[in-house]
Amino acid sequence: MKASHFVLADDLSSVLFDASTIATRVRELGVEIARDYADHPPLLVGILCGCFPFLADLVRVIDLPIEIDFIGVSSYGDDTVSSGVVRTTKDLERTIEGRHVLVVEDIVDTGLTIRYLLENLRTRRPASIEVCSLLHKHGPTALPIRYVGFECPDEFVVGYGLDFAGKYRNLPMIGALRPDLRASK
Ligand code: IMP
Repeated sequence: MKASHFVLADDLSSVLFDASTIATRVRELGVEIARDYADHPPLLVGILCGCFPFLADLVRVIDLPIEIDFIGVSSYGDDTVSSGVVRTTKDLERTIEGRHVLVVEDIVDTGLTIRYLLENLRTRRPASIEVCSLLHKHGPTALPIRYVGFECPDEFVVGYGLDFAGKYRNLPMIGALRPDLRASK
């Protein structure tokens, strides 16, 4: 095995975004966010579990006194299509009233999850609320996503936080999961 070869990546049919492409884009997003929020440092709310590598990399390029919290939501279970039902699995630890909130998500697909979350968080009266999603799968939606890392083809993707049945979150790149592996869950 070559030191650079990540064996788990053999389960991908194609690599869509490699680690260095992701790192470059995350740095750009961080710089943009730091510029936009220079006068009012945000509270970043990461959506568990998929956000964790993205959020960890993103916060380290936002040179502002930000705060971080997490919320857990689930809509997919172990499947590759949304169940259509979103439920909260973990609530925030902090109050967001009067705060500038930036929700950090791994991927917006149908928009169901983020819509549910925004409705929920808005009732807590934040000063502002915006969304930063590393990937956006479908074309322009009515949803206001202020920061998007990459437009993503309409395929089931894994890696860099994105999972299939709990696996592949630790892949350093993002790619399409081989169809034969999706079938044999
Ligand atoms: P939405 O509610 O359809 O927008 O889906 C958003 C959530 O579904 C994300 O936070 C992911 O957890 C999950 N998801 C959507 N598409 C994918 C994918 O291609 N791979 C892995 N997870 C996905």
